[in-house]
Formats: sequence, C-alpha cells, structure tokens
Amino acid sequence: MRIAVFDDYRLGLLNDDRIHDLTPVLPGWRPGDTQFINEFIGSFGVLRPAIQRIVEHSAGLPLEQVVLRTPVPTPQHLLAAPLNYQAHRDEMQGSLTAGPGTADTLGFFLKAPASISDPSAPIELPNLPNRRIDFEAEIAVVVGKHMRAVSPEDALRHVYGYTIIFDMTVRMNETEREERTMRKSYSSFSPLGPWVTTTDEISDPRDLTLKAWRNGDLLQDASLNDLIVSVPELLSRASRVFELKPGDVYATGSPAGVGQVAPGDTILAESPQIGRLELQVSVRDW
Ligand code: MN
Repeated sequence: MRIAVFDDYRLGLLNDDRIHDLTPVLPGWRPGDTQFINEFIGSFGVLRPAIQRIVEHSAGLPLEQVVLRTPVPTPQHLLAAPLNYQAHRDEMQGSLTAGPGTADTLGFFLKAPASISDPSAPIELPNLPNRRIDFEAEIAVVVGKHMRAVSPEDALRHVYGYTIIFDMTVRMNETEREERTMRKSYSSFSPLGPWVTTTDEISDPRDLTLKAWRNGDLLQDASLNDLIVSVPELLSRASRVFELKPGDVYATGSPAGVGQVAPGDTILAESPQIGRLELQVSVRDW
C-alpha cells in the first residue's frame, strides 16, 4: 500500500493516482494532529482490513487536488547512517572520519525531527556565506512497531514501510567544524516523502533502488543491495541503544554522487518502488 498524509494531516491511501481519505475509519483523528500519525503507524496492522474496505467504498480524490504533507511529520527519532556505501566513503575520504563498516562500529547519528519538511515545500538554505551545502538522496525506513533489542532476523517484521529523504548537509571546512547534528538539522533539511510504500509491496529492502538528479543531471544511482550495513542490521543495532518507536525514521545512508546545491536548483529523487520527490532550492527569509 502507498500511505500518504495530505491537507490538514489526513491519512490517505494512494491508488491509481487517487487519494482515498482514511480518516473516517480512524477514531480519534483530529485535523493537524501529527502525533496521531505515529499512533496510526503503530496500529497499521490491525487497521489494514478497514483501510482496504475504504478503497472499495470511496471514489477518492485526484492526487493533484490535494496538498501532500510529509508522511511522517513528527517521528520521535530521526536516525541516519553515515558512510554506508563504499563508493560514498571513497568520495568523502579526508573530509570525514569513520570506523570500519560493521553494524557494531558504523553507528548512527540523529537529526532534529523539526528538520523534516513536506514534499511540496522548498529547501530553504540558511545564510551561511562560503559554506558548501549538499544534498544526499537516501531511502528511509519507517519503523512500525516498538523495537527493543531486536535481532537482525526479526527486524524487518517491525518495519512499516519505506520512503525517500534528502539528508541536507552543511559541509565542514578547514576552520568550521561544527557538530554534525547542527549542520544537518536546519529547517527543511530533511524533506521526506512523497508517501510511504508499506512492506506488503516491499518485502526485502535490498530490492529498492534510488536515483537522484540535480537540474536534470543524474548524480546518484544506487541499490540498497550495496549497503555496507544492511537495513536489518541498522535497525537491530539501534534497537540495542534505545527503544525504537512506531513512526521513527532511519535514513539508510547516501550513495556516492552527493551534489552541492544553490538557490534556484531543482533536485529530484526517484525510487520505482516508492515514487518521486522533487524539490526547489531557495533561500530562507528568517
Ligand atoms: Mn546522509
């Protein structure tokens, strides 16, 4: 299933370019209540039969008539893998340090969930003269169930689905070497969407592929089969650090080909199994 969030944070099922509003079958839904979406994700398994019936009994709205929101507006945790493709490690050599790539040594970093933005919202670059700002297009995993010390073998049973994230990053230079969390957490630095494709359509994340373009030029072309630390291993290891919650998002790492962005650019990421996330780059006015 493709589950979207639209307009006043309604949940919707996307089917043949039409959005079917799910909120009539969701007790307790209120306009603008983003925490409800985490509860929905945690209850997705039991809600599925009701969701399936909605498609049969509603006409749906054309996709172009709604405003798509990010499908996970307020995860409790936004985790991200650093340097999880060999070719990206090679291109970053010298500018970053990282241990060997195993589940136990790679680790993760956290971005502020407040950096998440909608699929239709521009990326607003902060005013940081002479700093390089890059995009990293990545597949993101959305956790569906509480995970505490879950083994890699059991990890995928806890996944709700997959979506696309741009992990926007202010690069360090010789003299400016702030903590990664700050450099990656500016507002709009984690556009997420356009919706979540749930695990009934993606049983093995290694099947996922992702391409990304800047102004029409292909810069990134990746398969999750090439991850150094796999999705089950990432989730399992993190679940031994703290308990992952329904709605938590884990960005799996950037493929090689990260690209610098400037105001006026258009960046596009596409995964055939998920969809397209296309964004304008602008300048923030605050
Ligand atoms: Mn990244």
